[in-house]
Amino acid sequence: MTLKLAIVGRPNVGKSTLFNRLAGKKLAIVDDRPGVTRDRRYGAGRLGDLDLTLIDTAGFEDVSDESLEARMRAQTEQALDECDLALFVMDAREGLTPLDQVFVELLRKRDKPVIVCANKAEGRAGEAGANEAFALGLGEPIPISAEHGEGMADLYAAILALA
Ligand code: GDP
Ligand code: MG
Repeated sequence: MTLKLAIVGRPNVGKSTLFNRLAGKKLAIVDDRPGVTRDRRYGAGRLGDLDLTLIDTAGFEDVSDESLEARMRAQTEQALDECDLALFVMDAREGLTPLDQVFVELLRKRDKPVIVCANKAEGRAGEAGANEAFALGLGEPIPISAEHGEGMADLYAAILALA
Protein backbone atom coordinates (compact mmCIF):
# COMPACT_ATOMS: atom_id res chain seq x y z
CA MET A 1 0.00 0.00 0.00
CA THR A 2 1.31 3.44 -0.91
CA LEU A 3 -0.05 6.41 0.92
CA LYS A 4 0.35 9.98 -0.27
CA LEU A 5 1.13 12.30 2.62
CA ALA A 6 1.19 16.08 2.46
CA ILE A 7 3.31 17.78 5.11
CA VAL A 8 1.78 21.20 5.73
CA GLY A 9 2.20 24.08 8.14
CA ARG A 10 3.83 27.45 8.49
CA PRO A 11 7.55 27.99 7.88
CA ASN A 12 10.07 26.80 10.46
CA VAL A 13 7.97 24.22 12.28
CA GLY A 14 10.12 21.36 10.95
CA LYS A 15 8.26 20.16 7.86
CA SER A 16 11.38 19.57 5.80
CA THR A 17 13.12 17.87 8.70
CA LEU A 18 10.16 15.49 8.98
CA PHE A 19 10.16 15.00 5.21
CA ASN A 20 13.83 14.06 5.29
CA ARG A 21 13.34 11.78 8.27
CA LEU A 22 10.50 9.91 6.56
CA ALA A 23 12.23 9.90 3.20
CA GLY A 24 15.41 8.51 4.68
CA LYS A 25 17.75 7.21 2.03
CA LYS A 26 14.95 6.66 -0.43
CA LEU A 27 14.70 10.36 -1.11
CA ALA A 28 13.87 11.05 -4.72
CA ILE A 29 13.46 14.57 -5.97
CA VAL A 30 10.91 14.62 -8.74
CA ASP A 31 9.87 18.24 -8.71
CA ASP A 32 11.81 19.10 -11.84
CA ARG A 33 8.86 18.10 -13.99
CA PRO A 34 7.93 20.93 -16.32
CA GLY A 35 5.07 23.03 -15.11
CA VAL A 36 5.31 21.81 -11.56
CA THR A 37 5.92 24.52 -9.06
CA ARG A 38 9.15 24.35 -7.15
CA ASP A 39 7.25 25.18 -4.00
CA ARG A 40 6.51 21.50 -3.47
CA ARG A 41 9.06 18.76 -3.10
CA TYR A 42 8.25 15.09 -3.59
CA GLY A 43 9.93 12.06 -2.12
CA ALA A 44 9.45 8.38 -1.51
CA GLY A 45 9.59 7.13 2.03
CA ARG A 46 8.76 4.29 4.28
CA LEU A 47 7.25 4.13 7.75
CA GLY A 48 6.95 0.66 9.22
CA ASP A 49 5.28 -1.41 6.51
CA LEU A 50 3.88 1.60 4.69
CA ASP A 51 5.26 2.95 1.44
CA LEU A 52 4.82 6.68 1.36
CA THR A 53 4.76 9.33 -1.28
CA LEU A 54 5.69 12.49 0.57
CA ILE A 55 4.89 16.05 -0.38
CA ASP A 56 6.88 18.73 1.41
CA THR A 57 5.31 22.14 1.06
CA ALA A 58 8.37 24.30 0.99
CA GLY A 59 10.50 26.75 -0.80
CA PHE A 60 8.91 30.01 0.27
CA GLU A 61 10.75 30.55 3.52
CA ASP A 62 13.01 33.17 2.00
CA VAL A 63 10.33 35.00 0.09
CA SER A 64 9.32 38.17 1.86
CA ASP A 65 6.99 39.91 -0.57
CA GLU A 66 3.29 40.43 0.05
CA SER A 67 2.32 37.42 -2.02
CA LEU A 68 3.90 35.07 0.51
CA GLU A 69 0.71 34.12 2.28
CA ALA A 70 -1.16 33.69 -0.99
CA ARG A 71 1.56 31.39 -2.30
CA MET A 72 1.61 29.36 0.89
CA ARG A 73 -2.14 28.97 0.72
CA ALA A 74 -2.13 28.01 -2.95
CA GLN A 75 0.56 25.38 -2.68
CA THR A 76 -0.93 23.97 0.51
CA GLU A 77 -4.32 23.70 -1.23
CA GLN A 78 -2.70 21.85 -4.12
CA ALA A 79 -0.87 19.48 -1.82
CA LEU A 80 -4.12 18.82 0.05
CA ASP A 81 -5.91 18.14 -3.23
CA GLU A 82 -3.33 15.52 -4.11
CA CYS A 83 -2.83 13.73 -0.82
CA ASP A 84 -4.60 10.88 0.97
CA LEU A 85 -3.67 12.25 4.36
CA ALA A 86 -2.27 15.52 5.69
CA LEU A 87 0.33 15.90 8.41
CA PHE A 88 -0.18 19.30 9.99
CA VAL A 89 3.07 20.21 11.70
CA MET A 90 3.19 22.76 14.51
CA ASP A 91 6.03 23.84 16.80
CA ALA A 92 5.15 22.46 20.22
CA ARG A 93 7.78 24.65 21.88
CA GLU A 94 6.34 27.86 20.49
CA GLY A 95 2.70 26.88 20.64
CA LEU A 96 0.14 27.97 18.06
CA THR A 97 0.60 31.27 16.25
CA PRO A 98 -1.84 33.30 14.13
CA LEU A 99 -0.10 31.96 11.01
CA ASP A 100 -0.73 28.39 12.18
CA GLN A 101 -4.43 29.26 12.22
CA VAL A 102 -4.32 30.07 8.50
CA PHE A 103 -3.34 26.46 7.83
CA VAL A 104 -5.83 25.12 10.35
CA GLU A 105 -8.62 26.94 8.50
CA LEU A 106 -7.52 25.36 5.20
CA LEU A 107 -7.65 21.94 6.84
CA ARG A 108 -11.03 22.54 8.44
CA LYS A 109 -12.58 23.33 5.07
CA ARG A 110 -11.82 19.82 3.83
CA ASP A 111 -12.68 16.24 4.52
CA LYS A 112 -9.09 15.04 4.18
CA PRO A 113 -7.92 13.13 7.21
CA VAL A 114 -5.33 15.06 9.17
CA ILE A 115 -2.83 14.20 11.85
CA VAL A 116 -1.52 17.00 14.03
CA CYS A 117 2.20 16.59 14.64
CA ALA A 118 3.44 18.49 17.69
CA ASN A 119 7.06 18.76 16.62
CA LYS A 120 10.19 19.76 18.54
CA ALA A 121 8.82 17.76 21.47
CA GLU A 122 12.04 15.92 22.33
CA GLY A 123 12.44 15.27 26.00
CA ARG A 124 9.41 16.69 27.74
CA ALA A 125 9.53 19.97 25.88
CA GLY A 126 6.40 21.02 24.13
CA GLU A 127 3.73 19.55 26.39
CA ALA A 128 1.94 22.89 26.69
CA GLY A 129 2.12 23.40 22.94
CA ALA A 130 0.74 19.94 22.28
CA ASN A 131 -2.15 20.69 24.62
CA GLU A 132 -2.88 23.89 22.70
CA ALA A 133 -2.92 21.86 19.50
CA PHE A 134 -5.33 19.37 21.04
CA ALA A 135 -7.82 22.21 21.53
CA LEU A 136 -7.98 22.69 17.75
CA GLY A 137 -10.29 19.70 17.58
CA LEU A 138 -8.33 18.09 14.74
CA GLY A 139 -7.59 15.03 16.80
CA GLU A 140 -5.02 14.14 19.39
CA PRO A 141 -1.64 15.64 18.49
CA ILE A 142 1.26 13.23 18.17
CA PRO A 143 4.32 14.56 19.99
CA ILE A 144 7.32 14.00 17.74
CA SER A 145 10.86 15.19 17.28
CA ALA A 146 11.58 15.15 13.58
CA GLU A 147 15.16 16.13 14.29
CA HIS A 148 15.84 13.42 16.86
CA GLY A 149 13.52 10.77 15.47
CA GLU A 150 11.26 10.55 18.50
CA GLY A 151 7.58 9.67 18.26
CA MET A 152 7.88 7.97 14.87
CA ALA A 153 6.24 4.76 16.12
CA ASP A 154 3.28 6.78 17.42
CA LEU A 155 3.08 8.65 14.14
CA TYR A 156 3.11 5.35 12.27
CA ALA A 157 0.27 4.05 14.43
CA ALA A 158 -1.75 7.21 13.87
CA ILE A 159 -1.22 7.01 10.10
CA LEU A 160 -2.20 3.32 10.07
CA ALA A 161 -5.37 4.12 11.97
CA LEU A 162 -6.42 6.55 9.25
CA ALA A 163 -5.02 4.78 6.20
P1 GDP B 1 10.16 24.03 7.75
O1 GDP B 1 10.37 25.46 7.40
O2 GDP B 1 8.80 23.82 8.36
O3 GDP B 1 10.44 23.09 6.62
O4 GDP B 1 11.19 23.68 8.93
P2 GDP B 1 12.64 23.01 8.86
O5 GDP B 1 12.54 21.54 8.70
O6 GDP B 1 13.45 23.76 7.87
O7 GDP B 1 13.17 23.27 10.35
C1 GDP B 1 13.19 24.59 10.90
C2 GDP B 1 14.13 24.61 12.09
O8 GDP B 1 13.60 23.79 13.13
C3 GDP B 1 15.51 24.05 11.77
O9 GDP B 1 16.46 24.81 12.48
C4 GDP B 1 15.45 22.64 12.32
O10 GDP B 1 16.71 22.15 12.68
C5 GDP B 1 14.55 22.82 13.53
N1 GDP B 1 13.85 21.58 13.90
C6 GDP B 1 13.18 20.74 13.08
N2 GDP B 1 12.71 19.68 13.77
C7 GDP B 1 13.08 19.87 15.05
C8 GDP B 1 12.88 19.10 16.26
O11 GDP B 1 12.31 18.02 16.28
N3 GDP B 1 13.39 19.65 17.41
C9 GDP B 1 14.07 20.84 17.41
N4 GDP B 1 14.52 21.27 18.59
N5 GDP B 1 14.28 21.56 16.30
C10 GDP B 1 13.79 21.08 15.14
MG1 MG C 1 10.92 23.49 4.67
